Amino acid sequence: MQVLTTIQELKDFKKSLIHQDTLGLVPTMGALHKGHQSLMQKSIQQNTHTIVSIFVNPTQFGPTEDFNKYPRTLEKDCEICQKLGVSAVFAPQITEMYQKEDEITLNPPKSMGYVFEGFVRENHFNGVLQVVLKLFNLIQPHFAYFGQKDAQQLLILKRLVQDMFLPLTIIPCETIRDADGLALSSRNIYLSEEERTIALEIPKALQKMETLFKQGCNSSKELIAQAKTCISHVELDYFTITDYNLHITSTPKHNEAIALIAGKVGKTRLLDNLWF
Ligand code: AMP
Repeated sequence: MQVLTTIQELKDFKKSLIHQDTLGLVPTMGALHKGHQSLMQKSIQQNTHTIVSIFVNPTQFGPTEDFNKYPRTLEKDCEICQKLGVSAVFAPQITEMYQKEDEITLNPPKSMGYVFEGFVRENHFNGVLQVVLKLFNLIQPHFAYFGQKDAQQLLILKRLVQDMFLPLTIIPCETIRDADGLALSSRNIYLSEEERTIALEIPKALQKMETLFKQGCNSSKELIAQAKTCISHVELDYFTITDYNLHITSTPKHNEAIALIAGKVGKTRLLDNLWF
């Protein structure tokens, strides 16, 4: 496995590929866990080569967010990638990815990018779009793998591909959870033991919602009210049900809706969702 840190090294790696090879890209911010690994495994299964990018992207963090303290474990991450059979890791410095002070930026659709996560985290999706478009242009993958865990990000990136006619396909990957139900996240390490127990209110609420939906309840109001009975200590930012355009829906339908939940436990923000 090659570890590439410059754009030139990336270009040389690309040159070494054969015309009929397919290339899968798994963009990450590192601190790799089993959730990331499931994306990597899917890409490895489906492509001749898989490249994993590891880059803690400054432009998607707000000024008061955890950019500086975000976990950085490159050596361990590379070992994981190598063991799984990744062809290359692309782990550039910030100055390699952002070469100018004042760069062109991208805005998400107003109706998708400034609600929920985009409301709580100002300009978060502008930064996500900027870095992902850079990665797509540099790496030119045939397929790019993103987790359903970050539902709003996934839906906005699908729009990036559609709206900009990008020649690649986004592959959504299901959320991987710990045995207790908590969705894996690089930020879970911030949780104390007590906070982790509180955090479990989130998957419990979503599980209750799923059970009720499967039993025939299709009123968002009722589903949210019932699910909220599981939440007593998590400080909710939002808990809502939308369609795939992120429009709030009163009657979720199978394969057409998602419940989005986010909240704080202590200082840690947690994000989860249910795809109906
Ligand atoms: P991150 O490193 O947090 O930017 O995540 C990189 C990719 O991994 C994103 O596409 C995430 O949606 C995905 N991801 C993060 N956590 C999980 C999880 N628990 N299960 C599946 N995918 C995940």
